[in-house]
Amino acid sequence: MFNQKPAFIKSTTVLEECPPPEIPEVCFAGRSNVGKSSLINALLNKKKIARTSNVPGKTQQMNYYKVGDDFYLVDLPGYGYAKVPKKERERWGQNIRSYLMDRQNLKLVLHVVDARHDPSRLDEDFFYWMAMNEKPFSVLMSKADKISRNKVNQSKAKVRRVLKEMNIEVPIIPYSADNRDGIEEIRSLIKEFINH
Ligand code: GDP
Repeated sequence: MFNQKPAFIKSTTVLEECPPPEIPEVCFAGRSNVGKSSLINALLNKKKIARTSNVPGKTQQMNYYKVGDDFYLVDLPGYGYAKVPKKERERWGQNIRSYLMDRQNLKLVLHVVDARHDPSRLDEDFFYWMAMNEKPFSVLMSKADKISRNKVNQSKAKVRRVLKEMNIEVPIIPYSADNRDGIEEIRSLIKEFINH
């Protein structure tokens, strides 16, 4: 599946302008700069099909990538970027919630957090909201190469505890877009949900 040719399809801000829901899709959520674009590039084996940057909040749209004729990967706008005006943030929030609730072909939401930090309040709110709405999701922990294996395991245990307090049990996968640890596991997870 992942050896097929990927293509950038379009950017949009609203559900109504998403491509026709004819094939399954998986989306990536998480705060700005957490590493979503780098992850998409690593999964698709491309250096820069998804735009990566050091400027948080630059990706303010939903970006659609199509893998062969099989499925879409969707990069959601990163949240938690303080410099974006409140009104605009609220509008994205509404747009994203309506996408997550109503997108028919959405099979899995991959929520990316930074392996070096505890989940933020916004991350926790997101976990809770996903569980309340019975949406299938998993937690991916980025930049695992920046800390020791021991620290990665501690972070993973912390995320698991936070989820458990909310009675949520979902896969948690640490990875590195740099050294590619965990990338194959994430591909397998995506395949599993797309073939469901
Ligand atoms: P996005 O805003 O969530 O799309 O984040 P980006 O993919 O643009 O990544 C933000 C910054 O983190 C960039 O400088 C990336 O090179 C860096 N980055 C992303 N993933 C990793 C990773 O797994 N390991 C390391 N060391 N750096 C990463």
